[in-house]
Amino acid sequence: MQNFRFRALAETFNRQVVEVSYPSEKISDFYGSMVFNMDTMREYLTKEAFKSLMNTIDRGEKIDRRIADQVASSMKAWAMKHGATHYTHWFHPLTGATAEKHDSFINPVDGGKAIEEFSGVSLIQQEPDASSFPHGGIRNTFEARGYTAWDPTSPAFIIDQTLCIPTIFVSYTGESLDYKTPLLKSMEALEKAAVKVCQLFDKDIVKVYPTLGWEQEYFLVDSALFTARPDLVLTGRTLFGHSSAKDQQLHDHYFGIIHSRARAFMRDLEIEAHKLGIPLKTRHNEVAPGQFECAPIYEEINVAVDHNQLLMHLLDKVSRKHYFKVLLHEKPFEGINGSGKHNNWSLATNTGENLLSPGKTPSENLRFITIFVNILNAVYHHEELVRASVASANNDLRLGGNEAPPAIISAFIGDQLTQTLDEIEEMPGPGEIMGNVASNNNINIPKIPEILRDNTDRNRTSPFAFTGNKFEFRAVGSTANSAKPMIVLNSIVADQLSEFYDEVTALMDSNMSKEEAIFTVVKQYIRKSKPIRFEGNNYSEEWKAEAKRRGLSNHPNTPDAIKAYVSDRTIAMFERQNVLTSRELHARYEMRLDKYVRKLQIESRLIGDLATNHIIPTAIKYQNTLIKNVKGLKKVLDSKTYEALSINQIHNIRDISEHISSIRQLTEEMIKERKATNRIGSVVERADTYCTKVKPYFTKIRYHVDKLELLVDDQLWPLMKYRELLFVK
Ligand code: ADP
Ligand code: MG
Repeated sequence: MQNFRFRALAETFNRQVVEVSYPSEKISDFYGSMVFNMDTMREYLTKEAFKSLMNTIDRGEKIDRRIADQVASSMKAWAMKHGATHYTHWFHPLTGATAEKHDSFINPVDGGKAIEEFSGVSLIQQEPDASSFPHGGIRNTFEARGYTAWDPTSPAFIIDQTLCIPTIFVSYTGESLDYKTPLLKSMEALEKAAVKVCQLFDKDIVKVYPTLGWEQEYFLVDSALFTARPDLVLTGRTLFGHSSAKDQQLHDHYFGIIHSRARAFMRDLEIEAHKLGIPLKTRHNEVAPGQFECAPIYEEINVAVDHNQLLMHLLDKVSRKHYFKVLLHEKPFEGINGSGKHNNWSLATNTGENLLSPGKTPSENLRFITIFVNILNAVYHHEELVRASVASANNDLRLGGNEAPPAIISAFIGDQLTQTLDEIEEMPGPGEIMGNVASNNNINIPKIPEILRDNTDRNRTSPFAFTGNKFEFRAVGSTANSAKPMIVLNSIVADQLSEFYDEVTALMDSNMSKEEAIFTVVKQYIRKSKPIRFEGNNYSEEWKAEAKRRGLSNHPNTPDAIKAYVSDRTIAMFERQNVLTSRELHARYEMRLDKYVRKLQIESRLIGDLATNHIIPTAIKYQNTLIKNVKGLKKVLDSKTYEALSINQIHNIRDISEHISSIRQLTEEMIKERKATNRIGSVVERADTYCTKVKPYFTKIRYHVDKLELLVDDQLWPLMKYRELLFVK
C-alpha cells in the first residue's frame, strides 16, 4: 500500500479554486446583515425600548425586566427572520477559545404544539453550568455554578443559524472566569483616569475609550496534507521536519501575488466577516511561504476583541470549504517566521479626537506628550507584566525567534519624538517656565512636526512601537485572546494616569500653576522611563546585554514570565484599579501554569509516539534495504572492489543506526523525566520542571529525526515534508 503521505499529496493534484460570489452587488448591501446593530434595533424595537437600551450601552444604566423582555422578543423575531433556530450566550472562558451552549427557541405548549420563545431573563442571564472550564480553584464542586450575563455593549449576531449573545462569565461568588469581565473593568478604570487627566486640558472631554486594531497572521495548508501530519492535527505545530531547501530566503512571498486558491478563500472569509460587521480591510501575503495576514479597521476595544475571536472561528470554518486548514499556532514551522497578532492600541475621546495624535496647538501638544509619557512610564514600571501578558507555551517558541520581538519589552518611539522628549528634558526648571507662561500664555513645548505620522516606525524589531498615532504591541501571539494583553495595557495606563493626576494636583495645591505642574511631572516621567526606550535592533545580542544593564527583565519561558501576574506590584495595581483581585490573579496564574504543563505533556507524548511508531520503524526498514544491498554486493564483487564500493553504504548504515539509537535513548529518558514530573504536586514546580527537564528533549530528539529525514528514502518517509506543507497549493 502506498504511504499515507503520497496519498495525501495525490489528493492535492486536482484541487480546484472554489470561487465564491458576493451575496449582492455591493459589500455595503450585506455588511452587518447578521448583526443586531443600531439600525436593526431602531427598526425592531419600540422607541421606549430603543432609548432605554441606548442608555444601557452608553451609560451602563440597568435595564428593567419589561424592557429586557421587549428586546429579547425583538431579537428573536429578527433572528428567526434570518434563519436562526437557536440562541446561545457566547463567552470567552479562560481556555482561550470561545464557548457556546445552544438552546432552541422552542417551548412546548398545550395540545402537543410548541412556540418559539425568548425571554428577557434568558437574554440577560444564564447558568450554563460549564463546570469543566478551568477556574484555578475558584469554583469548588459545591459551588460549581458559573453565570453568564449579557454584555449589551457588544452587539448580538447570528452565525450558523444561532443567535449569539456576547456575555461575561462569572462564578457564583462573583469572581470572573473569563477575559471579558476584566476587560470591561479595565476600560472603566482607564476611562475614569484618562478623563480626569484630559480635563486638565479640555473640559469638553467626558469620555475616553481605548481602540484596538488587530492584525492577524496565519498559515494556510492544504487540508489533505494537514491531516497527514498527526502533530499538526494534535498540537497545531510540526514537532519534526527538516527545513526546505527553499523557504523564505528570497523574500518572494511577502506582499507577493496571492495565489488563486488563497484569494478565493480570503474573499469568502471577507464576505462572512462583513456579514458579521467585522470591518476587514487589508489582506496580504506575509514573509513565510504559505503565511498571510488580515486586518480590520480599528474599533472600540471590547467589540474589536469579540470580532477577533469571531474571526479566528471564521478562519477555521471558511477554510474547510476551500480544502485548506488554517494554522493559527505561533510557530507551526521551525526555522521560518511564526505568526503574531499585532495589537494597535490608542485612546479615543467623545470629542472625536485621538489622544495619541500629536496636536497642532501647544496645548494639544502638551496633552499629547502627557498621555504619551504616561504610557511609556506605565510600560516601564510594569514591563514584566506586559511581557507576561503575551506569554504562552506556543509564543515562547516564537518570541526571540529572529523574526519576532524578543522576550524583553522595550518601546520604540522614533527619531522625532526622541528628540522632542530630549528637548523637554533639557528645558529650564519651573522658574523659567513660569516666565514662559507669563509671556506666551503657554509653555514652549517643542513643536512636533505634522509629518510625524509618516516618519515614525518601521522598526519592525520592536515589541512595542509608536507608529504615529497609536502604539503597536507586536509581541502578542496569533492564537491569543487579545483581551489578555489589552487588560494589562488598559490597567497599567489607568493606574499611571491616576498617579499622574494626583501628583499634578498636589503640586497645584502648593501653588504651582497647572501648566507648570503638568510640565514638572512630565519631565520627571521622561527621565524615569528612559530605560524602556530602545530604538535599535531588538533581535541583536548586544540588546540582550544592554537590556540587562538597564535592569529590564528577560524571561524567555512562560513559567518564569507569568510570575509577574502574582507579584505584589501587579496585585496592588490591579486591585487599585478594581480590575482583578488577588484571588482571581492567583487563580489565573495557576490556570496558565496548568495549561502550560498540559500543552508540553501532549507534545511530549506525541513526540514519543511519532518517534517510536513512525520514524524508527521507517528508518529500520530503509536500513535493512541497505544491509541487504551490501550483502548482495559482497556476493557479486571481488573483495577488493567490494571494500572500495561498500564503504559509503556501510557509513550510511552506521549513521542511521546511531540516529535510531539516539532517538530511542532520548525518548526513553524523556518519558522517564515526564512521568517523574507528572508526580510533582505543586503546579508551579511542575511547570518549571516541564520547562527545564522535559522540554529540552524535544529539540534533542528532533535533531536526530530531522537528520534521518535526509538519509532515508523519500518513498518511505511517513511525514509530510516542509517543502510540501509550505509550497503545495
Ligand atoms: P502596518 O502596521 O501593517 O504597516 P498600519 O500601521 O497601517 O499597518 O496599521 C494598521 C492597523 O492599525 C489597522 O489594523 C488599523 O485599524 C490600526 N489602527 C489605525 N489607527 C488606529 C487607532 N487610532 N487605534 C487603534 N488601531 C488603529
Ligand atoms: Mg502593523
